[in-house]
Amino acid sequence: MIARVTLEVAIRKEFDYLVPPELAEQVEVGTRVKVPFGARQVFGCVTALPESSPHAKLRSLTAVISRPSLITPRVLDLARWIADYYCCPTESALRSVLPEVVRQEKEAWRYQRMARRPANPDTPARLTQRQQEILQLLEPGAEMPVSRLLEKARTTLSTLKRLESLGCLILSQSITERDPYAHETILPTEPLCLNPEQSAALDRIIRAMDGQRAHAGGGRPEAQPFLLHGVTGSGKTEIYLQAIAHALKNGQGAIVLVPEISLTPQTVERFKARFCAGPLRTLVAVLHSHLSAGERHDEWHKIRQGRSRIVIGARSAIFAPVEPLGLIVVDEEHEHSYKQEEAPRYHARDVAVVRGWREKAVVVLGSATPSLESYFNARRGKYCLLELPTRVDDQKLPLVRVIDMRSEGRHDKGPPVFSRRLREAIAQRLERKEQVMLFLNRRGYASSLQCPKCGYVAGCPQCSLALTYHRRDQVLRCHLCGHQAPAPVVCPSETCRNPAIRYAGLGTEKVEDILGQIFPRAVISRMDSDVMKRKEDYRRVLGDFRTGKIDILVGTQMIAKGLHFPNVTLVGIIYADLGLHVPDFRAGERTFQLLTQVAGRAGRGDVEGEVIVQTLTPYHPAIQFARRHDYAGFYEQEIEFREQLQYPPASHAALLTLRGRNEDKVRFTADHLRRCLDALIPHFKGLILAGPAPAPLLRAESYYRYQIMLRTRQMSRLSRALAELVASQKLPEDTFLAVDIDPMSLL
Ligand code: ADP
Ligand code: ZN
Repeated sequence: MIARVTLEVAIRKEFDYLVPPELAEQVEVGTRVKVPFGARQVFGCVTALPESSPHAKLRSLTAVISRPSLITPRVLDLARWIADYYCCPTESALRSVLPEVVRQEKEAWRYQRMARRPANPDTPARLTQRQQEILQLLEPGAEMPVSRLLEKARTTLSTLKRLESLGCLILSQSITERDPYAHETILPTEPLCLNPEQSAALDRIIRAMDGQRAHAGGGRPEAQPFLLHGVTGSGKTEIYLQAIAHALKNGQGAIVLVPEISLTPQTVERFKARFCAGPLRTLVAVLHSHLSAGERHDEWHKIRQGRSRIVIGARSAIFAPVEPLGLIVVDEEHEHSYKQEEAPRYHARDVAVVRGWREKAVVVLGSATPSLESYFNARRGKYCLLELPTRVDDQKLPLVRVIDMRSEGRHDKGPPVFSRRLREAIAQRLERKEQVMLFLNRRGYASSLQCPKCGYVAGCPQCSLALTYHRRDQVLRCHLCGHQAPAPVVCPSETCRNPAIRYAGLGTEKVEDILGQIFPRAVISRMDSDVMKRKEDYRRVLGDFRTGKIDILVGTQMIAKGLHFPNVTLVGIIYADLGLHVPDFRAGERTFQLLTQVAGRAGRGDVEGEVIVQTLTPYHPAIQFARRHDYAGFYEQEIEFREQLQYPPASHAALLTLRGRNEDKVRFTADHLRRCLDALIPHFKGLILAGPAPAPLLRAESYYRYQIMLRTRQMSRLSRALAELVASQKLPEDTFLAVDIDPMSLL
């Protein structure tokens, strides 16, 4: 018997090994094994069991690591697809589909010593008074962790062992699961009665699920993915919950992807509450990056063993071994965090669509502001569009006012941080004891330090980026690489030393500061990654805001997503243009999405909400369409521009980035690569090549970067060609090439 194995070392090759007869029963596709490789022993994953091998002399594999196999054949298939489409080695894709802690040689369950009292013990003739007291702490048949018993009985382990030898106690080891949510009590909820729009959408989804299941064995039909476009508060989550219930009824499981930032205890609880009781009762497993390794291990095995049929998690939860899989939900499908920014550079939403298609699971992509890609697919009939145009309680969408900051304040000083209108609106809310959220997507105090005399700007020594001034810590910090330096008091330039250096631009820290000066009696809190260092900070501030202890919450995109506070009646967007002028064809789309998300935070209680958007470009379409809550309008004008220039979704893009410490070498290599790529042009109709050009941030973490962008309508084919080309390239020392298919970040 022969096993073909992908090794967990960086080699783009598979190797064949003989399976010793005594291991033959345990080896199947997906099994993890230990094999000899040169003089070493390495881990690998069996990817096939071929009849024969082209190689003559095969070595034998050493051991089987885990049974049953951790990777199901279906997940293995998915990893293969990722390797092909995203141009990365199979072992790198395989590493992504299994969490690190699950890949250890030994399973990492936590054991705990338990003491149990037999149900019908033969009571020995004589027990001391003390021994009897200890036993009375346990009912017959009951059990307790030994540590607890020792504490309660104020005794020692040897005393318990003595009781064991008398047959009065049984000491054993048992697995205790680490449950990150153990301390929370959850009250079960019942399905809500849906409104007609929700019912219509759920109906379509359920029909597709039943259709898929009826044909689970054979070919057709393949249900199209659904794009559920519903404004915030339109009841999308309730539809997910009822669709999941249907999957459970059909004996299937479900995966729900949520952006990391929205994976709050609130969100998780909504899912747990629905499925913690009743006939459909099942464990809901949670996978995200804040779990400890042990917790992740336990959650993952709960899924693999089929005890959890519902998984809710961030990006990598798309690989959860749920089987059979009936439904995949990708909430906030437009979120950029679904794209992994290191190899393998997969997009979890797109992987979800592929996985759904292969496993005949129904895929539901939900968003209030769908990505252009998904909406484009819906318009072309590739996805099926479901719309929920109104909020559940028929609440009006908030009134959005756009304030032209060019006509605010005095000419000599530039626009102020707060327009008159926003100041008045805040004052009014404070008086009425309502709450305010202020949004600015930049942390720190000032975005740069400049010397007005000599023109010096403090830049990062490793990146082409100005340093941000953080006043509380009195440092200058690079927001790209984290480089930090004490804030100077005079111009650092040797020849200048001007004491009147100036801080330009603003961040959340300054907004908080100025706000405190204007409203000295208001309770103000800030939420950005500078102040929210720990999970508890985040929970505490949100708790205080919810209970009304905080009047005004200032924050970055941390406050933009998925938070519901009924008493917030005013949302202010301090500087809406911030993301508009970055060199990225998605700048408009991102701004539209962000404004819509932030605006969605206002007025979810009884009082109508108001949103004030401050901007220097009030007529920009992203701002105007967001003001009117007009997604379709925004799409129409944006898609026209993408089609004209053949940018995604009108095409697929691939971004090739070369980086190295020596700029000349990088540029030279990039030029050479471009000449090789030119050879592809005759084979791909309509292939567009651009570059090499310096990356918008030429230098990052002391590496110079040059980019080449390719655009095509035949991405799968181009990926294959790129993989070959990349494999044949000999890069000079200290020069690296990254291939990013369907890139989300162009900087
Ligand atoms: P979305 O996910 O689209 O933002 P949610 O599903 O969170 O919307 O719904 C918003 C609020 O409306 C929630 O508090 C939810 O419990 C409630 N809700 C949803 N559907 C219904 C319904 N059919 N009847 C009553 N309340 C509903
Ligand atoms: Zn830097």
